[in-house]
Amino acid sequence: MRRSIVAGNWKMNGSTESINELLSALKVGLTGQQSAAQIIVCPPAPYLPLVREVLASSDIGIGAQDVSEQPSGAFTGQVSVAMLKDFDVRYVLVGHSERRRLNGETDQLVAKKFSAALSQGLFPILCVGETLEQREAGHAEQVVTDQLGAVLEECGVNALERAVVAYEPVWAIGTGRTATPEQAQQMHKVLRESVSRRSEKIAGQLRIIYGGSVNAANSQELFAQPDIDGGLVGGASLKADEFITICKSVS
Ligand code: PEP
Repeated sequence: MRRSIVAGNWKMNGSTESINELLSALKVGLTGQQSAAQIIVCPPAPYLPLVREVLASSDIGIGAQDVSEQPSGAFTGQVSVAMLKDFDVRYVLVGHSERRRLNGETDQLVAKKFSAALSQGLFPILCVGETLEQREAGHAEQVVTDQLGAVLEECGVNALERAVVAYEPVWAIGTGRTATPEQAQQMHKVLRESVSRRSEKIAGQLRIIYGGSVNAANSQELFAQPDIDGGLVGGASLKADEFITICKSVS
């Protein structure tokens, strides 16, 4: 039985005031919800100390939005695994499509970030997903299995024992255009089968979550699919009521 995960990716949003407000509402609204699903918030890095302080007595986990593949040194603007751990971060997104697209992150760099996170005790959430052009050209399954394959090549299949995969079709992120439950289920099944060819046991245990315009109205049907183990939520995770409803729709 896989325990679901719902992670909120706040992206580059928030202020001290809005984060205090949001977290206070989540702490109240999500009391008792942690047994059904692991709930995580991923704030922008400068707010990690604030989030740690406010969530000190809560089961809501803390994730980062990105991490450097380097341990330390002359890498201006980057944040290391050790720095994240210093602020009780346990999870980290790697390979979000906005970083792949806007920061030129390749499958190989993403695999190195995944490896750095995992080897130093963080729980990576590997984001994979195809663009609309790739889907329309019939290449969607190849693209996402290649993205996953780069990590399997770098780290081996056993690495997935302590990781989550997030399927996020690029055309559904922040667009209001969600993949249908059937489209999402089909891709989650493809991903699980590709892991299964290396290890059936790990494939059976792996949490694969869906992201792309998840909201309070569509989460229940998405999360009810047999291979969807929760969600990675962007825009809707900034609204307390909406995010609470999404978390509670985990079956
Ligand atoms: C995301 O940024 O990971 C995401 C899924 O965004 P949204 O929910 O806004 O589409």
